[in-house]
Amino acid sequence: MSRVERRRIVVRGTVQGVGFRPWAVRQATRLGLAGHVGNAGPDLIVEIEGTADRLDAFVNTIRLSPPPLALVGEVEVAGIGPLGVAGFDVCPSEPGLSTAAVAVPADVATCDACLAEVDDPADRRHRYPFTNCTDCGPRYTIIRALPYDRATTTVADFALCVDCRREYEDPGDRRFHAEPIACGACGPSLKWEAEGASAVKEEALAAAVACVVAGGIVAMKGIGGYHLIVRADDAAAVGRLRQRKKRDEKPFAVMVATAEVASTLVELSAAARAELTSPRRPIVLARRRPVVNATLASGIAPGSPDLGILLPYSPLHHLMMAAVGAPLVMTSGNRTDEPIAQSADAATRQLADIADGFLHHDRPIHVRCDDSVVRASGGRVQVVRRSRGYAPSPIRLPPMPGTGLASVLAVGAELKSTVSIASGGAVVASHHLGDLEHPAAYEAFEAAVAHLLSLTRVDPDVVAHDLHPEYLSTKWAMAADRPLVGVQHHHAHVASCLVDHGRADPVVGIAFDGLGFGHDATLWGGEILLADLRSAQRLAHLRPVALPGGAAAIREPWRMALTWAALAVGPEAAAVLGPDLDDRWEQVLALAAAPSTFRTTSGGRLFDAIAALAGGRRTISYEGQAAAELETAAVLYLDSAEATDPDVADAWVGTPGAEPWVLDPSPMIADALARRLARRSMGEISATFHRALAGGLVRASVLLAKRAGVGTVALTGGVFQNMLLTDLVAEGVTRAGLEVLVHRNVPPNDGGISIGQAAVASACQ
Ligand code: ZN
Ligand code: ZN
Ligand code: FE
Repeated sequence: MSRVERRRIVVRGTVQGVGFRPWAVRQATRLGLAGHVGNAGPDLIVEIEGTADRLDAFVNTIRLSPPPLALVGEVEVAGIGPLGVAGFDVCPSEPGLSTAAVAVPADVATCDACLAEVDDPADRRHRYPFTNCTDCGPRYTIIRALPYDRATTTVADFALCVDCRREYEDPGDRRFHAEPIACGACGPSLKWEAEGASAVKEEALAAAVACVVAGGIVAMKGIGGYHLIVRADDAAAVGRLRQRKKRDEKPFAVMVATAEVASTLVELSAAARAELTSPRRPIVLARRRPVVNATLASGIAPGSPDLGILLPYSPLHHLMMAAVGAPLVMTSGNRTDEPIAQSADAATRQLADIADGFLHHDRPIHVRCDDSVVRASGGRVQVVRRSRGYAPSPIRLPPMPGTGLASVLAVGAELKSTVSIASGGAVVASHHLGDLEHPAAYEAFEAAVAHLLSLTRVDPDVVAHDLHPEYLSTKWAMAADRPLVGVQHHHAHVASCLVDHGRADPVVGIAFDGLGFGHDATLWGGEILLADLRSAQRLAHLRPVALPGGAAAIREPWRMALTWAALAVGPEAAAVLGPDLDDRWEQVLALAAAPSTFRTTSGGRLFDAIAALAGGRRTISYEGQAAAELETAAVLYLDSAEATDPDVADAWVGTPGAEPWVLDPSPMIADALARRLARRSMGEISATFHRALAGGLVRASVLLAKRAGVGTVALTGGVFQNMLLTDLVAEGVTRAGLEVLVHRNVPPNDGGISIGQAAVASACQ
């Protein structure tokens, strides 16, 4: 008979809140091993004894086929003296045994087994809206502290009933140690409140359903905050929602019951479908199918060829969808620009004159979390807002020998803010926090920093920040009394793309975005860098142009059209164009010519200029709107019968001289202006511009890559949310024989900046 040995196994990674402990009990029992398993800090610790071959089998199972939601990093095994124990159980969590690894689970959409129970009239959880198990349910949004235990979540105050306790304590039950376990007898419940009416539980749901069916607007509390919902097939209801939310044009997302319904509304590639149905359940932006649009109110995404679709991700969503029997508009429960409402008080206060009724529940939300958004095009998907379901799952940093030992807090940029912590070879990024200039978003920023630091128990060695002195995140870092690492904005963008691909080698990065502070204290945004995780060198940039009126130039794209026309073609051209754009054209031209006016190399502002030249809107109501509509026009045009293969103007004038090269898009401006005067369509102007810009970027980046001796081009920055531009540049670079890196799981926009900062600061330590 072989000798009995005992081993202590430490498992790092995403190992808590993913059903790891009950899974370990089942595996150990199957193999006839004795001992215990428990959470310790962010790790999982198993002490286990038996014969060597069986212990090896146990460790191999952890490495090779762990529970489906787990992400196993390091597995550390040490031999210790056998104790001669029998049986295998879960021991209480040991707090404080901190390691560098971080492991807070993300929220998980309701699993099929739980759904089956909710649908089963004979089950004790029939129609219970908060059903969950070890494989599904809220996590990040309800966890107050680690170790992940019921006592450290927002459901701690719901005492378990006898039946739930039995399931929770039975190693053979699929709810063994499901921390947020609940049922109708002991768990959270619904409450309806409307003008002169209130109800609880089933009646609350029925009242909310009746309100929605009748065309009402309901504020419904979900996993990460409140949503405003209306029937998506009721044009009047959608119109009322727009009017009351003061949201004129920004597209709404639509929740449909199944992926089959979704595929009747939008074109779903295999990758898009996989993401849509994943336990992360993001909003998937995909091309709509024109034929069946009649089933949705036209006011949902006016003029857009894309539609944002999502599937139910909590039992409450499933019950609501089934009862209403129609797709639902689901939009965040906030006033425009404010963060999503999190508590009943905030919802009632913020949404009183928007919602006709409130469907509350009493499971507190500890972390407010918006729906995540991924964009699907061709066969690709790209995360553009990484929040519920994704945050705070760790992202592995590329291995960099001799570095990465320091822990980093990275505070991100200003818009689409996120914060990140790098430690132990991984980055944990927060949920989407919003635009920091809004006081509530800034509060969320401060709360997210404190919460992530306490969850991960990281005491950061350095704080990484943007170079922009006016960003509130930078000011916060300056006041933090820690060693600082300033990371240039576009270097952070390129680094975020490298992290997305697990790479650390030098690449030529095309970083095009709105605005970012440069090393020369001017506003950059149309940059080609030679960069790795440690350093970046500016190889080329767009020709600088005035930003007349600063923030006003961002809100009013016509200002950029006029300024570019004057610069690229001349004052006569601007004088012809000006009266057509705005009464204030002469003042703006004077402002543009003034030496004190800021100059920028922004790629985003170039898109604004072309959009206004092409006949698009002169002012915008949300960030990136003009560029999004310009892309749309090109996409629709290229799909249409009238599409010709217009001559593409040569992208850049002049021969590049000393570095950094200046890329002058004047020929594109001149071309757009000429087509405008010839009354060509916005689609044609836009398509021509997209091709010219892509051609120019390909030529410049390939030349620069060859000179620098690198074989890879990375596409990053908010402008590369534009899938048409991305496809055109990626094709060109690939045709030239180089490798191209496109964002996948890390947003190309400023939501990815903190991840890039964390990687750079960690590589530099
Ligand atoms: Zn479940
Ligand atoms: Zn119960
Ligand atoms: Fe940016």
